[in-house]
Amino acid sequence: MSQVRVRFAPSPTGFFHIGSARTALFNWLYARHTQGVFILRIEDTDKERNSDEFLRVIYDSLKWLGLDWDEGPGVGGGAGPYRQSERSSIYQEYLAQLRKTGRTYEKDGATYFRISGESQIIEDAIRGRVERTEEKDFVIVRSDGNPVFHLVNVVDDIAMRVTHVIRGEDHLSNTSKHTELFRAFGAPLPVFAHIPLILKQNGPGKMSKRDQGALIEEYQRRGFLPEALVNFLCLLGWSPKNDAEKMPLPEIVKLFDLPGVNQSNARFDEKKLAHMNMAYLHAMPVDHYVPLATSYLKRTGAFSGGDPDSAYLREVLALCQVKVRSLEELPPAIQYFFREDFATDVKAKEKIFGKGDPKARVRELLATLAQADFSSDATLEAWLHGVASRHGAQTADYIHPGRLAVSGVSAGPSFYGIFRVLGRERVQRRLERFLSLD
Ligand code: GLU
Repeated sequence: MSQVRVRFAPSPTGFFHIGSARTALFNWLYARHTQGVFILRIEDTDKERNSDEFLRVIYDSLKWLGLDWDEGPGVGGGAGPYRQSERSSIYQEYLAQLRKTGRTYEKDGATYFRISGESQIIEDAIRGRVERTEEKDFVIVRSDGNPVFHLVNVVDDIAMRVTHVIRGEDHLSNTSKHTELFRAFGAPLPVFAHIPLILKQNGPGKMSKRDQGALIEEYQRRGFLPEALVNFLCLLGWSPKNDAEKMPLPEIVKLFDLPGVNQSNARFDEKKLAHMNMAYLHAMPVDHYVPLATSYLKRTGAFSGGDPDSAYLREVLALCQVKVRSLEELPPAIQYFFREDFATDVKAKEKIFGKGDPKARVRELLATLAQADFSSDATLEAWLHGVASRHGAQTADYIHPGRLAVSGVSAGPSFYGIFRVLGRERVQRRLERFLSLD
């Protein structure tokens, strides 16, 4: 069989949303699975509703998601140009062909396509057999001279030798018009594959651009990991036979196929996405995580008082990596590492002061702090065991007050980890300050 050629054909008339990203992804996956060609085609014939801003968002979002295109704007390819606004002469040639074969006529300034009226049957790779008959001739060039979506979409699929049309189910109702046109041009039909809709999280109905969580840019801004979003998106309507969820992309590429795409609609689930993002965040190698988290922190203004020492920052980030569920949780979770004026959590303080004598415990820590070996969690643990046994106490009697004293909170990384990363001097200063708390 000849090489698979698929295309993602967005119209830059609005921000890039989850549904578009998933359509792009399914096309990309199919191209990579079959070692085919992934084309990006910009359907920008509707001049009034197009904007360069939306176009930029499409390019940025695709790049951020890692969906690289083999042919298209910025890349080139033998079937260009890849923006419909630059393809007028091609449409004219194809129109001339339809005129010559008597398939067009003019009425009220517009050009109509004369349908065959024959039943249009497609074997949709996802929906199965779909049959529909067009009953009315339809406009292919408006009275203002602009060719209509149906015409340019089909002409480009023919001219770009597209073998598989993978697109949202909302286009299924257009397909009989499209197959009428393919046949009128004497062109072979591509394989059609209509992907089920994405339903909004709550209630009936399709997810719209206005729904919370719909815009790809928003995820980028909020520091979501693109690989997590890609993994999540591919499960919106597709699942591998073994029902695995978190999967490396090469594995998805290997397993992805059109018959595996469900016919039923997929429901958007924000919790599942958050969970996927967390799983990727926690599994990320620290050398990859540190620069990513650092750039997120810089971008969100966490270091407005000046950049911290990079070795120290690395230690802090590595320690807290699995303690946050998303990068958004990072700034509040690490703030006490970078400032001495951190607040003390009132509830945690009440609880700790409610039992035992936390200041006495902290004094005992301070008394031997100079002997503590800060080089690892294990050496600090050995030191704390020594302190506890000398006073006939448990390590827990020190861990809670000690943690509150140096961080102001009762949750977070381990006592030993916090001490090790803060280092002796900061720990000493903070323990001393704790003794003067009211
Ligand atoms: N420009 C159309 C859209 O954005 C694409 C239609 C198609 O993929 O055939 O929905």
